[in-house]
Amino acid sequence: MNKQNDQLEAMRHSCEHVLTMAMIKLYPGLLPAMGPAIEDGFYFDFDYSGKISEADFIKIEAEMKRIINQDLAIVHSELSVEEAREVFAHNPYKLEWAEEADKRGERVSIYTIQEESQADSFVDVCKGPHVESTGKIGPFKLLSIAGAYWHGDSKNKMLTRIYGTCFPTKEDLDQYLWRLEEAEKRNHRRIGQEMELFAIFPEIGQGLPVWLPNGFTIRRVLEDYMLEAERKLGYEHVITPVISRAELFKTSGHLGFYDESMYPPIEVDNEKLYLKPMSCPGAMFIYKYKTRSYRDLPIKLGEFGLVYRYEKSGELHGLQRVRGFTQNDAHIFCREDQIAAELTEVINLLKQFYKDLGFDKYWIRLSLSDPKDKKYAIASREEWERAEKALKKVLDDNKLEYEEAPGEAVFYGPKIDIQAVNVFGKEDTISTIQFDFNLPRKFDLFYIDTSGEKARPYVIHRALIGSFERFLAFLIEYYAGAFPVWLSPVQALVVPITERNIEYARRVGRQLRENGVRVQVDDRSETLQAKIRDAQIQKIPYMLVVGDKEQESETVSVRLRSGENTGQVSIKEFVASIKKVISEKEA
Ligand SMILES: [Zn+2]
Ligand SMILES: [Zn+2]
Repeated sequence: MNKQNDQLEAMRHSCEHVLTMAMIKLYPGLLPAMGPAIEDGFYFDFDYSGKISEADFIKIEAEMKRIINQDLAIVHSELSVEEAREVFAHNPYKLEWAEEADKRGERVSIYTIQEESQADSFVDVCKGPHVESTGKIGPFKLLSIAGAYWHGDSKNKMLTRIYGTCFPTKEDLDQYLWRLEEAEKRNHRRIGQEMELFAIFPEIGQGLPVWLPNGFTIRRVLEDYMLEAERKLGYEHVITPVISRAELFKTSGHLGFYDESMYPPIEVDNEKLYLKPMSCPGAMFIYKYKTRSYRDLPIKLGEFGLVYRYEKSGELHGLQRVRGFTQNDAHIFCREDQIAAELTEVINLLKQFYKDLGFDKYWIRLSLSDPKDKKYAIASREEWERAEKALKKVLDDNKLEYEEAPGEAVFYGPKIDIQAVNVFGKEDTISTIQFDFNLPRKFDLFYIDTSGEKARPYVIHRALIGSFERFLAFLIEYYAGAFPVWLSPVQALVVPITERNIEYARRVGRQLRENGVRVQVDDRSETLQAKIRDAQIQKIPYMLVVGDKEQESETVSVRLRSGENTGQVSIKEFVASIKKVISEKEA
């Protein structure tokens, strides 16, 4: 950790002491338990029988400001365990720290924020470090309140936790708060629930998301998109089983290299079966199913492959980190002279896909071998160089910018990763194109070349939608739920103004449905305002309001999810315009 970070941490930790001091004064009987600085701020855990809510933050922050404005000294000292037992006699949490110090044979380190009168000063058990005085604490803000168990253990008492943060300047703080707000607006877990896209039921299992009708509609549109695009490029589609024999994964090398990410085996009929963590081994068998000649290549096998990988429960997060997911996977088997053309084709498909999503903030990382590293011994130096050169040439020819990462390649081949930054500023891999020297050897793949000899094909794995689950999380946050019309689960909502208009509304709905538009009719007996508000939460692109006036003239009044009214048009005109928006994948 560098010096700047140390200072920031000392400042945040001092701010937490000020929070504790303020709360003891405001809430007699409150027992402070603990409070560290954390990555983006600090928190404070306390034991209090009364009610404290976020509504109290204004009052608490005012008291904190009073303490900070007085620029009180923060002084370090030590107590003997005996003295500590006396000073903190009323607080079992602090006594526990004192006993810990006693066990280690140490004195108890304390910090005091000194008010003019000794009685008003605030003493806390703490190892430090701190800034010298409260005036050195920058602009701060209390953020949220939550429950937390003492020592994080559910067998212990539930305490209350307040999160806060502080920064050197007001500008830094404002920027951070703005980022938090933006991230919350785009939080895929909240939007996923509001728009009924997916759900995670504890009864079904953590990390095992369920696709609800709206979410699956988006996935199906993406699946259809990929199936059609791949078919046009000569891909054939297959499905391989979700569980397979241990031998298969021994041959592929997954058992041995990938154990930690695999589920324990299922024992049936005296043999072990594993959930597949990748779909590659099955694809190798499909290639081997018959003898291939040089004329048959390239062979491109696509699979929406359902895979299971073990993730620690603490790492699971919404749709971003899950234990079971489906990849838009494919394996391309080709001759060496076909590598460049095949890679170019994949890159072009990728570019078109991203363009259709209106997505342009991505960059490429090229993971290469390190000639000195023995882990790359699977193929000769020349083979690595030829493969790496082919990847670079394709990126260069397509004028794509990329960063090279030497020594970052996995042991079996170089790869291209498409990277993007998510709303929390963290980098995510959204697509991968992986070159593979290993599996053709392990599964002894060959084709008959022009001279009638056996030759080894090259294998390229590519997962353009690395995982439909993670990709949906990414899309939700990217669009903040306002998907482009072609992806929207419900593209238009017909809203009758009165009961008299329900029949007409249904007729409009039928006409749209017959034209391939995903439409719903809101015939609930709610007010117009309530229906519009709900449609806006659902981020439905078009609301078609129909009353007597529209019914008489066979029209609809169009309202966009932005709130803009674009006026009254005939049903026919609306059908024509929405069909164009969908087919041209306009936003
Ligand atoms: Zn401290
Ligand atoms: Zn693969």
